[in-house]
Amino acid sequence: MLNRRSFLASLASTFALVTSWRPAWAQATHSANVTFVLFNDFYLMGEQPFPDGKTRGGFARLAAVVKAEREKARAEGRSVIVAHGGDTLSPSVMSGLDQGAHIIALTNMIAPDVFVPGNHEFDFGKQVFLDRMREATFPLYGANFRDASGAPLPGHKDRSVLDVGGVRIGLTGLAYEQSPRMSSPEDLRFGPTIDTTKAQAAALRAEGADFVCAVLHCNRGDGLALQYARAAELLLTGHTHDLFINHDGKCALVESGYDAHYVTCVDVAISVRQDGARRTTTWWPQFRVIDTAGVAPDPAVASAVARFQQALIDKMSEAVCTTAVALDSSTSTVRTREAAIGNLFADAMREGMRADAAMLNGGGIRAGKNYDPGARISHGDILAELPFNNRVVVVEIAGAALRRAMENGLSLLPQPSGRFPQVSGIALQFDLARKAGERVTAMQVGGTPLIDDKIYRVAIVDFLARGGDDYTMFRDATRVTPDNDAPMLVNEVVGYLRKLGTARTGVEGRIVVK
Ligand SMILES: [Zn+2]
Repeated sequence: MLNRRSFLASLASTFALVTSWRPAWAQATHSANVTFVLFNDFYLMGEQPFPDGKTRGGFARLAAVVKAEREKARAEGRSVIVAHGGDTLSPSVMSGLDQGAHIIALTNMIAPDVFVPGNHEFDFGKQVFLDRMREATFPLYGANFRDASGAPLPGHKDRSVLDVGGVRIGLTGLAYEQSPRMSSPEDLRFGPTIDTTKAQAAALRAEGADFVCAVLHCNRGDGLALQYARAAELLLTGHTHDLFINHDGKCALVESGYDAHYVTCVDVAISVRQDGARRTTTWWPQFRVIDTAGVAPDPAVASAVARFQQALIDKMSEAVCTTAVALDSSTSTVRTREAAIGNLFADAMREGMRADAAMLNGGGIRAGKNYDPGARISHGDILAELPFNNRVVVVEIAGAALRRAMENGLSLLPQPSGRFPQVSGIALQFDLARKAGERVTAMQVGGTPLIDDKIYRVAIVDFLARGGDDYTMFRDATRVTPDNDAPMLVNEVVGYLRKLGTARTGVEGRIVVK
């Protein structure tokens, strides 16, 4: 046990130790306070309702958050860097109408300091991407992103160094490496996320950066690998859609959900001590998650959003194609037999996803309308026919399971049912006299007989991929397209119909009753 004298001595030495230790910022040659504001995967311009009765998201609330952060920082002598983690031009119903033009106009009002392209920036092809990026007035980054000749894309940079009170902040940004697999960037090239980030961080440090922030549209696995490698101090990501903050004391990895329901702010205090040529950086982050339910929308941005919404509603009456054949979307047709309109929609899915076959459930076709030969079909008609915001996903499924799927689709006949299959790339005959599950008597895919153990790529709606309408075989199949990266069915159909100009496919014997 300590006696009083030794206790005092130990207290004194402890006190001496404490007073001789001075925090790094007290010895700093330079110091800076920087707030990084992250939003990513921002698709819907308006706010959305939530199960808790509140509304969140939308450009107007995001604008209010960014404006408040910038004003507060200015008053307190801090700096703000606003990062957009990518995925925004698509998919949404409104984006399908103007190929994402309203998104860029509204993002210009937010004025992020760094933007990186996600896979969805290429959903309308290379030219639309280039057009939209030309309209952007905010800085674009893409260190792993090149044109077919290997040159950086117009307006895109690899990295930059910002001087904040003598502290050098290195900034780099990367586009989504797997865009060619998930979208349509055509001949644009994407370098590897991990190697490029490491190389850019090394280049930034060689150029004098004291603190490196990388903004990435990337898979979570790559983000975690970069964090483990301590490739940068701060990694701001998009693509996974979750609200994610992971700080291991050396490197922080952050993602802000999607659609700005939540916006993450990282307040970083950075100090740099210079001893001769040697610079030592000390930093520490604080994290704030802003729930936009509690944010008053910015009035100027809210009225811009309302103007765009009205203009796009007007646009819905424009014709996307003319039909040369009669189309009938009545329940008694689409839920009991091969329907011309079902063929058209399934063809759009198969072609858009480059699949062997496609299928949607008759219950997904809703307007109950008859279109006479010569009728014009508007964007609004397609929205009315396909109102469920379904996405198109591709599964890899064995022939035997695909036959079981067709059996499931025919199982309730002659009773009409939402599960009745409308197909493309598939031809089948069935016998209504047989019991459910044994009705298919012949089946072809792509013009050749079905092979039980062959694997087929089949485009289906996400509802069926989740096992809806008892299509459990689709739920159990290998998913090729994750839901987040799947195109909207409405946009696939509209794009296909525009390309056709005139729809000519009628009922042609894809599903024949014996
Ligand atoms: Zn993405």
